[in-house]
Amino acid sequence: MPQSRRRFLGLAAGVGAAATAPFLWRERALASDEPTQRRLGFALVGLGQLSEGQLAPAFRNTRYCRLAGLVSGHPDKARQWAQKYGVPEKSVYGYDTFDRIQDDPSVDVVYVVLPNSMHAEFTIRAARAGKHVLCEKPMAITVKECDEMIAACRAANRQLAIGYRLHFEPFNLEMARLAHEKTLGEVKVIEASAGFRIGDPAQWRLDKALSGGGSLVDIGIYALQAARQIAGAEPVSVTAEATVTEPAKFRGIDESVLFDLKFPNGVVASCLSTYAANVTRHFAGAERGSFELSPGLYYHGIRGHVTEANGPTREMTFPDIDQFAAEMDAFARCILDGRPTSVPGEEGRRDVRIIAAIYEAAASGRAVAL
Ligand code: NAD
Repeated sequence: MPQSRRRFLGLAAGVGAAATAPFLWRERALASDEPTQRRLGFALVGLGQLSEGQLAPAFRNTRYCRLAGLVSGHPDKARQWAQKYGVPEKSVYGYDTFDRIQDDPSVDVVYVVLPNSMHAEFTIRAARAGKHVLCEKPMAITVKECDEMIAACRAANRQLAIGYRLHFEPFNLEMARLAHEKTLGEVKVIEASAGFRIGDPAQWRLDKALSGGGSLVDIGIYALQAARQIAGAEPVSVTAEATVTEPAKFRGIDESVLFDLKFPNGVVASCLSTYAANVTRHFAGAERGSFELSPGLYYHGIRGHVTEANGPTREMTFPDIDQFAAEMDAFARCILDGRPTSVPGEEGRRDVRIIAAIYEAAASGRAVAL
């Protein structure tokens, strides 16, 4: 599965064109004119597919970050990584020795890249060790865990950010800008689909104790994020239906979930999450036209267009960036400048809370108020 997921998300690498930049992206472009400051040291916890394929290589595309520490349950693997990336042996930890990181001044930020059920424990331990934390999505598997993570970081006076890379991706930012600036009038309807065809039935993503759920917590969270970003508001109620076509593979977890979100201004979002097929599309229907991304969440090759009602369709043209470098740099800048992150634990908690409501709606067959 990691292979199929990587292929899916990495599809069409290199496609994309440099042109004008949307609003938040401009912030980073301006920052690049400034002299380079100290690079913050990041320690990766969990050296799996995401760390290997995306995060470790992304450091060379950052301006404010460097790979300074490694935390792994596999000492041999960690040693090989340390050699490859020039990480000193003293900054290589096992899960059992991780807490010693508090005495390691070369590490400023701990990046938690473990199975979902381990996010809370390692975020809390990192905060107690005095480190800022970047934690992968989904933030955790329960709202209670989210609260504990937020409280631990607050108590340690450290920042907590969630790995929402699309908050720094130009096409996705443009979708939000078009909606919020009402370029084609008010957005009235939203459709968001996110899915990939999952492989290996033995992987942790299909083990509820480690994943906390099925496609929804893993990939459907992107459909939820897209809907919330475009709506620019929080949903007030949700209805949902979960389906499974291969019961032997999806034991106690969802394969596909259809969910509808109602927003306070009457806007509705129709969303799909699935482990059955590759699908990634964000669509917004507004008063005077529509705009959409398809694919909308690949690591590279995101495409989008804007269609005016009874008018022309124009392609969106933005740079094909390293989303993980942008995400890490944005967090490092916040820490260096003493500003709060735009993707704090509270943002991760909102998704975890809505996901719990979606599962409740699917199980009960009734609308759940939020
Ligand atoms: P992976 O299975 O490739 O890696 C998981 C790592 O955790 C491995 O190094 C493994 O050794 C370690 N691990 C420790 N205890 C484990 C256990 N009990 N079972 C299994 N592995 C264990 O997973 P991944 O794809 O790298 O995902 C890691 C996290 O990153 C997840 O939370 C996932 O949601 C997130 N992720 C985010 C994106 C993104 O685009 N932001 C993409 C992929 C994954």
